Amino acid sequence: MKVQDLDFKKFISAPALSEKVRALAQKINQDYKDKTPVFLPILNGSFMFASDLLKEVKVPCRVSFVKTSSYSGTSSTGQLKTLIGHDESLFNQHIIIVEDIVDTGLTLEKIIEELRGLGAKSVEAVTLLRKKPAREKKIDVKYVGFELDEEFVLGYGLDYDGLGRNHKDLYKLAEKAPA
Ligand code: 5GP
Repeated sequence: MKVQDLDFKKFISAPALSEKVRALAQKINQDYKDKTPVFLPILNGSFMFASDLLKEVKVPCRVSFVKTSSYSGTSSTGQLKTLIGHDESLFNQHIIIVEDIVDTGLTLEKIIEELRGLGAKSVEAVTLLRKKPAREKKIDVKYVGFELDEEFVLGYGLDYDGLGRNHKDLYKLAEKAPA
């Protein structure tokens, strides 16, 4: 599949994604059975994952979509914006951040720090995908779907320069043929 100038190939199918999402929700259901967590999906990338995950969450919960951005193109710019959009008080709440992908972990670390500053009672994160740099840096993510190396992925909410979010499967950048 061609998106702008790049070739992508299918990587994780929609049924495999669904199965993983259900398993993640089940763990959250067990761990939060006596709590009323607030889910904070990070837009835009996590919208599809958050929607599927929350359909499987059975504990009472609140959902507040928030936004931050550190990416342009296919590599991190390292520039972080602050968390915007949470419309209710997060003070004394059990927060579960919903991320599409954790790469360097910079975005997540910044968000967790900000939420602690707002007086959250507990802060955990669920991510569909985690890349190698975050594993190496031992970024603490309680719920992880799939572990990746460093491939750039697209689909299931994730984009390349704004395109490709609508695909129900996950794709990865195809290897370039040797010149
Ligand atoms: P981090 O701060 O962990 O380096 O980057 C996290 C954010 O970068 C994710 O929420 C996502 O928006 C973006 N990102 C990281 N890796 C990828 C990738 O392979 N594909 C896409 N589309 N976005 C990515």
